[in-house]
Amino acid sequence: MDAATRFSEYLARKRLRLTRERRAILEEMLHVRGHFDADQLLAHFRSKGRMVSRATLYRTLARLVEAGLVHKIEMEHGQARYETMFGRHHHDHMICLTCGRIIEFESREIERAQDDVCRKKGFTMTGHMHQIRGHCAACAARAAAAATDGKPGSRQAERPGRAGGRTRV
Ligand SMILES: [Zn+2]
Ligand SMILES: [Zn+2]
Ligand SMILES: [Zn+2]
Repeated sequence: MDAATRFSEYLARKRLRLTRERRAILEEMLHVRGHFDADQLLAHFRSKGRMVSRATLYRTLARLVEAGLVHKIEMEHGQARYETMFGRHHHDHMICLTCGRIIEFESREIERAQDDVCRKKGFTMTGHMHQIRGHCAACAARAAAAATDGKPGSRQAERPGRAGGRTRV
């Protein structure tokens, strides 16, 4: 089933139609790759000449999330990123609280453990998402370098040429 069919079936259940505007947003979403916030998507749409209002985009994104075509990643402070899931392999995310980086991962063991847990509870899973929060390797290394600042060898952890010496305040 293609994405437009899936979306219109979802909308029909909600007594809504696949309007031209909704279709345009869906089509554009199918081509974006990566994790974007709604304002970045709005800017992207406008750069393509799609005159879509912010309110319509937000509402349509929420519908696409409910329809399972778009994944919403909850960030800190109520912010969110969106990513197209149609035609993509299932994956989960790690979110760096320092730099906001989103790292994708797939774990067959976690997926299988989840299925087992659901089966034991007699629960029928229709979808799931994992969001692991923490600090990415680069940020953790920077924090460790700052913590050991002044000790011999601590400067090795700094990235050459970038913000050199900033940790020596
Ligand atoms: Zn998963
Ligand atoms: Zn980071
Ligand atoms: Zn992702």
